[in-house]
Amino acid sequence: METDRIALRLPLVPSLRYNGRMAHITESFSSRPFCIALSRQWGPFEESLATAADVGWQGFFVCWRQGDDLRPLAAKAREFGMLHQSVHAPWGKAADLWGADEAKGEASVAELVACLEAAAASGAPLVVAHAWIGFVPTAPTEAGIRRFGRVVDEAKRLGLQIAVENTEGEEHLDALLAAFRGEPAVGFCWDTGHELCYNRGRDLMAAFGDRLLGTHINDNLGITDPAGPTTWLDDLHLLPFDGIADWPGIAQRLVRSGFGGPLTFELNRESKPGRHENDAYGAMPVRDYLAEALARARRVATLMDEA
Ligand SMILES: [Zn+2]
Repeated sequence: METDRIALRLPLVPSLRYNGRMAHITESFSSRPFCIALSRQWGPFEESLATAADVGWQGFFVCWRQGDDLRPLAAKAREFGMLHQSVHAPWGKAADLWGADEAKGEASVAELVACLEAAAASGAPLVVAHAWIGFVPTAPTEAGIRRFGRVVDEAKRLGLQIAVENTEGEEHLDALLAAFRGEPAVGFCWDTGHELCYNRGRDLMAAFGDRLLGTHINDNLGITDPAGPTTWLDDLHLLPFDGIADWPGIAQRLVRSGFGGPLTFELNRESKPGRHENDAYGAMPVRDYLAEALARARRVATLMDEA
């Protein structure tokens, strides 16, 4: 298993197949692999993985749920020569990590540890976790740092890294990344969309770019009502260039950080409740959507080449 994991960390030859045919590589092709988050809403993971590989995506991640065994999917990915970029941890218990309730705190740790074990078993080198969930401002606690420390110990034992992602409640991200500064097993996952709709445009790469372990690249329209409450409904995960994100600026910040890892995209084909921004994607067959998403990913990479 260890050998597999090391092998998966090596740069992969880009998939050259499109619609079953060999493609001509005449375009300037980024040396960074393009990875995509697979959604359960697109059908069985194995199917969307095959489609993603076929249109030219080079790696993937999925959100792990309690009890999921990712080994069969990882084996399929190896068949396609795809990078298993990361495993996304569940975030429903993220606030419990910080709370006074010991039992809930333990359950939060246990879930993250189980996710780390599933990632290690399937050969993914990285787990992405949210530091917080919820829109009521709450101060980070010592208990949360202590509990997260146990998760970090487990990651180190398994030879994995954990990337903490920017979401709402970024003071918890700040607290974890400050507490584990200098710990190579802990770093940052930059969600470009969350920066707009949750972090009000704060430049998180200026703060944590030197510790970047992964990306969730996506677009949105910012906060609908800047005077009102922030909600998850503005977290649209649109294709890059369909929202208001400053893509040349994002490319520049990625390049400036020196990040050499894969470019990972986390995109929603389905609209949020009561919203319609993603409807056009949902109307596209999954194959066409994934091909269009890859075209956008290449535009981002081109901006990086020009930055
Ligand atoms: Zn994300």
